[in-house]
Amino acid sequence: MGEISTKNAAFFAMAEFIVDFSTKIFDMAVSDKKRGRNFDYNGRGSNKNRGVERMAERVENNDRGNNESLIRQLAAFIRESQYTVVLTGAGCSVDSGVPDFRSPQGWWRKIDPRTVATVEALQTNYELFHAFYKARIEHLDGVRPHVGHHALARWEQEGRLRLIATQNVDGLHQAAGSRRVEELHGSIRSCRCHRCQRGAERDRFLSGLPCPECGGRLRPNVVLFGEALPDMAWNRALEAVRRAELVLVIGTSLQVYPVNQLPRMTEGRTALINAEETGEEHWFDLFIPGRAAPILERTDAMLRTT
Ligand SMILES: [Zn+2]
Repeated sequence: MGEISTKNAAFFAMAEFIVDFSTKIFDMAVSDKKRGRNFDYNGRGSNKNRGVERMAERVENNDRGNNESLIRQLAAFIRESQYTVVLTGAGCSVDSGVPDFRSPQGWWRKIDPRTVATVEALQTNYELFHAFYKARIEHLDGVRPHVGHHALARWEQEGRLRLIATQNVDGLHQAAGSRRVEELHGSIRSCRCHRCQRGAERDRFLSGLPCPECGGRLRPNVVLFGEALPDMAWNRALEAVRRAELVLVIGTSLQVYPVNQLPRMTEGRTALINAEETGEEHWFDLFIPGRAAPILERTDAMLRTT
């Protein structure tokens, strides 16, 4: 136990209902694994003590209204790592104006996306499915990457960053210039036929027309709830995480399985930037509470000045 097989990961793609169960299993496995980890956080004792230290530091920092020393620590982690992998979620796109539909103020709050972004909705309630994705696609037309996306793209160019694995389907990392991006939940920027799988024009999907080849229903190239994650993207992300010396998780509440297991698959350091505490931050080596864009911007500035 303690290893997640690719096969199982794919089968349970996005089955959030089993998150609690799987998290418990992995908590046990990971605590064993972490005890056996080779390198330590500045040689400062056990994970438990680290947590206390971090909490004290966090409180002190938040009292001053910034995370300066935490961000300095993150910059040091990045500098010391020869192999850094970034994992991003919805919180990384929020500063670009892409609503996080999981948050209470989220978009489409009257409709739970878990009931719309499904194969079942596609098959039995296509009108709603179509309206949901049409609205999302059209909204994205006015959305641009933020300073944090640009910082990540720059880190890749500078050789500081090996791979971004993202749960986001909005294409903002690529728009900012990142090239090594694995889209674990697919992309909303392109479409295909659900029946024959042929690629389809985005405008054809938006106008609600069926597949010109077979008459099937068109859909965006996103992973719907209950569908398997793309094998290639998942395997590349998993391999990179296993090799990583630093896994930086940005803007995800780590509630969606199996992606939430990825940061636990590394022997390297782990850092989390997230606007709110979700109960997952305790096992990260470093947790910086706050929004992605300003924190990445300041991390980038710190990498440049020291
Ligand atoms: Zn077709």
